[in-house]
Amino acid sequence: MALLVQKFGGTSVGDAERIRTVAEQVVRCRRNGDQVVLVVSAMGKETDELLRLAGEVSSEQSGREMDMLVTAGERKAIALVAMAIESLGVPAQSFTGSQAGFLTDATHRNAKILEVGAARIREALDAGSVPVVAGAQGVSTTKDVTFLGRGGSDTTAVALAVALGADACELYTDVPGVFTTDPRVVAAARRMHRITFDEMLEMTAAGCPKPAMRSVEFAHRHGVRLHVRSAFTWEPGTWVVEEGPDMEAALIRAVVPDLSEAKVTVAGVPDQPGVAARLFRELADAEVNVDMIVQNVSAAGVTDISFTVPHTDLSRAVAVCEEQRATTGATEVLSDDAIAKVSVVGAGMKSNPGVAATMFEVLAEHGINIEMISTSAIRISCVIAEAAADRAVAVLHEAFELDQTTF
Ligand code: ASP
Ligand code: MG
Repeated sequence: MALLVQKFGGTSVGDAERIRTVAEQVVRCRRNGDQVVLVVSAMGKETDELLRLAGEVSSEQSGREMDMLVTAGERKAIALVAMAIESLGVPAQSFTGSQAGFLTDATHRNAKILEVGAARIREALDAGSVPVVAGAQGVSTTKDVTFLGRGGSDTTAVALAVALGADACELYTDVPGVFTTDPRVVAAARRMHRITFDEMLEMTAAGCPKPAMRSVEFAHRHGVRLHVRSAFTWEPGTWVVEEGPDMEAALIRAVVPDLSEAKVTVAGVPDQPGVAARLFRELADAEVNVDMIVQNVSAAGVTDISFTVPHTDLSRAVAVCEEQRATTGATEVLSDDAIAKVSVVGAGMKSNPGVAATMFEVLAEHGINIEMISTSAIRISCVIAEAAADRAVAVLHEAFELDQTTF
């Protein structure tokens, strides 16, 4: 008998029929003798819809009210899921984040978990009931309702798995696992059976949208076994595991596209100590989330600095750079939002030279120009034109033979 924390994302509980399907799955697990705790996201695109509504009633919203609003989505979903389970003759009880014992800091919109009590969840389990917990929410040290941020339900599920000492945390979603690349872009993309935490983290950092990075870090830190799988086919998905001796490090495991960033260049910056420090301090103070940074070799005492930011931060980044241009005497600020970042990830590159060379050759053979490059021990990322993104992903996936390997 296993204790499983099962998280269902928005599409998995997107309508009444989906909710009934999830309830039937719970009954099947119980029949197998497993104990389950559910964590549920808001139905479908409800979180987006609530955010949109907020924007329509007011141009500026307090974090407290936003969190009260957004967490309503999950609250509605847990009640419906609990009812559906009960209608199949299995006792179930819904719990808000606060009722489930999620104590957080008071950083509204993006609260951090401080403690997970989970006493009522244990009681419900002991009483033979299925606890259904609202994802991505808690109560702050100042007793306000808090939201853990977009994708926060994954973090709720992992944190609950830690608190309950669960045997595994299953993240149910609308795809059957983690793929070697986006299957919508490359039909030959394959589902992996296993991936290491380090590789999964690099993939999420490179732009792979699921699972949420915070939840993977949390699971890694606490040794939670993560299983990313489908709520549509129910087939076994991808296990995220520690690197083990039985696991041969793959040279390249995945090609990850990211179209969410834009590039900013400050040209003709004086090449003096403190210029980059000031620029990036100002960007940080403006809450611009900087990803890749490249500074050119200086010529005649000036240099160019380029960096990438999420599209959503672009206008703030350009405004900061324009101010800095005026004070430092830089010549111009350029921005380009039609870029893509394409990354290859694999633990095997640590001990095998030539991966970067191969990546650059493949892109060159297909006439794709590289604008920026950055690397980590197990990732190489290139910024290219957005229009070339799908082609780059396809040719890299093929060149590294990801369509032929099974992990
Ligand atoms: N419903 C929230 C969101 O869409 C939280 C979550 O599902 O993880 O971000
Ligand atoms: Mg873009």
